[in-house]
Amino acid sequence: ALYHSKTTSRGRTTVYSTEHEARIRSERAIESALQNADYNQEFEVHFQPVVLLPERVVVGFEALARWDNPVLGKVPPDTFIAIAERTGLIHRLTVALFKKAVSQITALPHDLYLSFNLSAHDITNAETVAALLEIIRGNGIDPRLVTFEITETSVIDSYEAAETCLRTLRAAGVKLALDDFGTGYSSLGYLHRLPIDCVKIDKSFVAGLREPVASGVVTSILNLCRSMQINCVVEGVEESDQLAVLETMQCRYVQGYFFSRPMPFDEVRNTLASGATI
Ligand code: C2E
Ligand code: CA
Ligand code: CA
Ligand code: CA
Repeated sequence: ALYHSKTTSRGRTTVYSTEHEARIRSERAIESALQNADYNQEFEVHFQPVVLLPERVVVGFEALARWDNPVLGKVPPDTFIAIAERTGLIHRLTVALFKKAVSQITALPHDLYLSFNLSAHDITNAETVAALLEIIRGNGIDPRLVTFEITETSVIDSYEAAETCLRTLRAAGVKLALDDFGTGYSSLGYLHRLPIDCVKIDKSFVAGLREPVASGVVTSILNLCRSMQINCVVEGVEESDQLAVLETMQCRYVQGYFFSRPMPFDEVRNTLASGATI
């Protein structure tokens, strides 16, 4: 049965789904594994190319965290990032991941930009912001080649603290991108109020590109970005006909499985070294 009841210490009977219990159990396991993880060994950064149209050249990479734990196996980033945030481990994790991503990208003989995801806690924590900027300085990477991706939901809770941190980052020369654009409630408001350089259109719109509603939304966002002189990356491009539609819309930056999945660093280096186009 999906549900079973449990008598609590107060003698009350509560109904739990076994699914819910299993989830809590596994969250505990992830939490303790995260607490004891060897951040340098177990975590990797994978890189997904961002492609410029119509030339189809790679101009940068988005860093995406990967965790392979000896006991739990591979845990998806959505899951462990959320748990790291809740348990206060996110600062350590973000710093370790960014360090790795920057040292790898600077090892390449190209001027490619690095886009890195920050979570809500990161962009309200002055210490995290200082550590990120220190890593940029220490590696000698041009800050203009670094973009931090934030989401609207990560700004919402403590807007003022976030705004202060984001302005500090921006003042140091890094770029800011608003991720998952179009999925929230007030994306437009944030675009207006925050110092945003780039918008990433959520992949759900690309998936529905054949329908007039989604394609209308994409066209509108592209036009909005043009008029605000903000760059725009369309995410989640998987098929050639999606790419064809985006090309007719004069979209400049795209990302997605059609070009490449996120790759381990060695693969990035080999691909670039062989001169292969992605
Ligand atoms: P996101 O920032 O929106 O990243 C895009 C996600 O879409 C990635 O999932 C990527 O692998 C996936 N993707 C890329 N191209 C395609 C495509 O063509 N089709 C489809 N269906 N998916 C595509 P991933 O790697 O599982 O990451 C999930 C989320 O976890 C990210 O969403 C981001 O919010 C978070 N995340 C990943 N790495 C980090 C990190 O280092 N720090 C923080 N704070 N969050 C991270
Ligand atoms: Ca992202
Ligand atoms: Ca996204
Ligand atoms: Ca996301």
